[in-house]
Amino acid sequence: MSWRSPTDRPSRGRIKLQRADSRRHHRSMLLQELFAEGPASRADLARASGLTRVTVSELVGELLADGLVEELGAPTETRVGKPPTMVGLVPDAKHVLAIDLSVDDHVAGAVLNLAGQVITRDARPLEGRRGDAAVEAVRAFAADLITGATSPVLGVGVASPGVVSPDGVVLDAPNLGWHDVKLAETLGTALDLPVYVANDANTAVLGEFTFGGGAEGGLMLMRLSTGVGAGLVLGGTLLHGDGGAAGEIGHVQVVADGEECACGRRGCLETYLSVPRLRRRIAGGGSDEGVLTEAAGHLAGALAPVVATLNLGELVLSGPLDLVEPLARIAAPLIRDRVMPVSAEQFVVRATALGDDGVLVGATGLVLAAELGVS
Ligand SMILES: [Zn+2]
Repeated sequence: MSWRSPTDRPSRGRIKLQRADSRRHHRSMLLQELFAEGPASRADLARASGLTRVTVSELVGELLADGLVEELGAPTETRVGKPPTMVGLVPDAKHVLAIDLSVDDHVAGAVLNLAGQVITRDARPLEGRRGDAAVEAVRAFAADLITGATSPVLGVGVASPGVVSPDGVVLDAPNLGWHDVKLAETLGTALDLPVYVANDANTAVLGEFTFGGGAEGGLMLMRLSTGVGAGLVLGGTLLHGDGGAAGEIGHVQVVADGEECACGRRGCLETYLSVPRLRRRIAGGGSDEGVLTEAAGHLAGALAPVVATLNLGELVLSGPLDLVEPLARIAAPLIRDRVMPVSAEQFVVRATALGDDGVLVGATGLVLAAELGVS
């Protein structure tokens, strides 16, 4: 890291860069406002963004020319004087390709529009392919699926299991035999599009935040599938952590000498919360309520310190709804009981609002955030 003393003068190049950056930033602010709040007049946009009306008019002109927004005419209520023209996002101005690699031995994907609506979807078995063969299978699948887009494609978002660096290198995904695989770069070159890759729990939390009504006050999404992972959005930003492994709470030990875990240790949270283990315990004769209450107890024990430390607003559980809905209901009071009232008062635990599409929708959010600056 280098430090710049306050007396350093920025170079001419840097000033230029800052101007381009701020223009892009202002454009993102307007898109964000339209994305989050719906159609608005230019005057509304100026008020909401703090930009001058002249700047807003120029930027709206650019966005109209790019086809990202359209004029919608005047609002229905009658006002004195000339009614303002409303502008709104065009959901099908661009399409996004989203790929989900978190399902066992399958690659699933969809083409979605800017509103997160699925245009077309497909899935293909990987048939045990790993390493380079799995990368090639993903490339071929993406190339086929992209032909279903009926608008220009803005980019590709990929949700991968395992630990993924912020620049799209899959550092470790044992199920796919991937170690240090430059997935974003490889797919980007092959498809000639910007490609963004993130861990599946991270994409799911981004989807919940962007499209599922996620709270502004800190959101943690815990994804229950073959394993257990979590993603965090704080202050509107996805948390990566020092080594890209933020949210890897599944392998926190909750019982000193518990069942053996996939990681080789014993008593990890995952051994109580992964979908196969929950199903097995329920099938093994435990009452649904009894099995889920035990799991919720361990969940509460592991998460209460996180909820209190970050003063989280919301915990969202993603996974099969027959499991995550009762788990959310049982875990909520158990977590609240373990933290101070100030941490518990506003805190919400719920099942995902996006059902099974959370990961794909989140992969779309990855592209929207990077390419348009909206979230
Ligand atoms: Zn473990």
